[in-house]
Amino acid sequence: MSLAHACRIVLLGPPGAGKGTQAQKLARRLGIPHISTGAILRAEAARGTDLGRRAAALMERGELVPDDVVLEIVQARLEQDDCRRGFILDGFPRSLAQAEALERECGVASAGLRVLSLDVPSEELVKRMVLRGRKDDREDVIRARLEVYRQQTEPLIAFYRERGALVPIDGIGSTEEVFERLMVQLGSCDGRAS
Ligand code: AMP
Repeated sequence: MSLAHACRIVLLGPPGAGKGTQAQKLARRLGIPHISTGAILRAEAARGTDLGRRAAALMERGELVPDDVVLEIVQARLEQDDCRRGFILDGFPRSLAQAEALERECGVASAGLRVLSLDVPSEELVKRMVLRGRKDDREDVIRARLEVYRQQTEPLIAFYRERGALVPIDGIGSTEEVFERLMVQLGSCDGRAS
């Protein structure tokens, strides 16, 4: 069981820090699922479901989708079999309330997580997002998302540091360089090896 815990990963960091790209690469290398709440919400929006339509309006403004909606998605996903040996959460939790719900409602102890916190200065973030060109990557929406990050998500850094789960990572450099830094911190973690 200790291996399973070693592979419970949260990627934390501001929008544009490269969480999605790194999460995808880590999932492939470690053989555990990549769970991106943003990607799940965008898929719901593309399918035009009720939930998707409600979420889309908030996402286009850079605001957070309500906790209960996101929590239901995460809870259902974590119950699937492929998460037994670990998972990579990308974009969740995004607030203290969500971090507490992950513990209480999903039974995932904070102290058993590896919270990889990608550190990238704001000027660099805006540059990266403008290049990415997603629907919510317009400059005004980018600024709104950075503000939401500072107010709601950044307090998670202290939350996880206090629980001994925080692993700060320098997020400057090429995709490969940052990936290598992440892998060094995850040495003993292999979802296929249990
Ligand atoms: P992301 O792909 O992680 O950048 O998320 C894109 C957008 O989806 C965010 O700006 C939010 O509107 C919404 N979203 C994704 N994850 C969450 C979450 N954990 N809580 C609330 N809203 C979220």
